[in-house]
Amino acid sequence: MLEREDYEEFRKAVRRLAETKIQPYAADVDEKKRFPEEALAAFKELQLVALPFDERVGGQSGDVLAQSICLEEIARVCATSSLTLMVIWAGLGPIASFGSPQLIEEVMKPAINGDTVASICLTEIHGGSDVWGARTRAQYQDGQWVINGQKRYITNASRSDWYSVLARTGEDSFGVFAVHKSDPGLSFGKLESKMGVRGSPTADVIFEDCRVEDYRLLGDSKEGRQYITDSLAYTRPLIGAQALGIAQGALDAAIKYVKEREVFGQQVARFQMIRGTIADLATEIEAARQLLYRSCQAVENKEPEARTLASMAKLFCSNVAMKVATESVQLHGGAGYLTDFPVERMMRDAKITQIYEGTSEIQKLIVAKAMLSD
Ligand SMILES: Cc1cc2nc3c(=O)[nH]c(=O)nc-3n(C[C@H](O)[C@H](O)[C@H](O)COP(=O)(O)OP(=O)(O)OC[C@H]3O[C@@H](n4cnc5c(N)ncnc54)[C@H](O)[C@@H]3O)c2cc1C
Repeated sequence: MLEREDYEEFRKAVRRLAETKIQPYAADVDEKKRFPEEALAAFKELQLVALPFDERVGGQSGDVLAQSICLEEIARVCATSSLTLMVIWAGLGPIASFGSPQLIEEVMKPAINGDTVASICLTEIHGGSDVWGARTRAQYQDGQWVINGQKRYITNASRSDWYSVLARTGEDSFGVFAVHKSDPGLSFGKLESKMGVRGSPTADVIFEDCRVEDYRLLGDSKEGRQYITDSLAYTRPLIGAQALGIAQGALDAAIKYVKEREVFGQQVARFQMIRGTIADLATEIEAARQLLYRSCQAVENKEPEARTLASMAKLFCSNVAMKVATESVQLHGGAGYLTDFPVERMMRDAKITQIYEGTSEIQKLIVAKAMLSD
């Protein structure tokens, strides 16, 4: 781990970038439901796409805490942009960890420069919370893998260059495959219309006799389950970080508003009830931050309780995000209900953090199982 001052320097640099290069477009990205191209260009300035990856593949070896701080600061101004970056990391992750030297050369070099968009394809109609209910199959034929199936709700779909795809390779075994957007047999469903994170494209990814060369298999064809289980323990704190950033952004906006707005001849910020709400929300955010950073440390050090802490952090931070964003709308009065103020968008964006990468109910199942040792 780095020194505390190093993380704070890094936070300041990302915040500066987020406020100057991403925030100005956040409302437009949401309103027009368009991909945050400005954010993608901004990520290049600090080489943020390279942050989580090993120096071996050209990355910066930034630890989970640094990644969380990065996503937290971006989500503070634009949840769509933080999701875009997080999913690029999640899509490239299995390739960087388990890809053959040929694949790493082909994929990671342009990716590290920030020129590549990626997706992670786990969810299916029959396998959302039940990831292992997935029916997409990969069969080995004449030196190639032939993939058939349909993935649902895939972030960055149709915009991504590379797709890391979980597919069944046997009755009870899974593999993970790198599929390129130009591979024959790959197509996309309609773009989903969503409540929040509207600039982030979400669509089905469809595989019809999609053939990929053997070198696109990531690692062992029967170890995909383990690879994905490990990677979810690592990505869950990152969703927690996204949620925390949304909460902080909403509270910051609410504080600004209550200091400016006058009612009954005084600043809204002078009313005792309002001050109590601000104090409660700030306290919850700080509690969420401490749990999140503790889970980052556990994941980084591969501590035995890392998976449980990651689920706790995701569960708690997403609940705090939903509560803080809703209360921040309330603190704005009628203005909070208008799209002129960012808290309306933040409240819609907060909701998804309780759903994706395992719903709150699934996080509770994981935590309860660890507590009850059953
Ligand atoms: C905007 C968006 C982006 C996404 N991006 C991606 C992506 O990039 N890649 C990807 O693979 N997936 C992605 N997802 C999918 C997401 O991870 C799933 O939607 C999520 O895991 C829930 O699965 P489901 O939708 O099938 O819900 P379901 O499993 O149908 O759940 C329905 C309800 O039942 C509850 N439930 C389910 N099982 C249990 C249980 N055992 N006990 C108690 N309650 C239970 C759930 O908590 C929920 O309340 C995305 C989804 C959205 C909406």
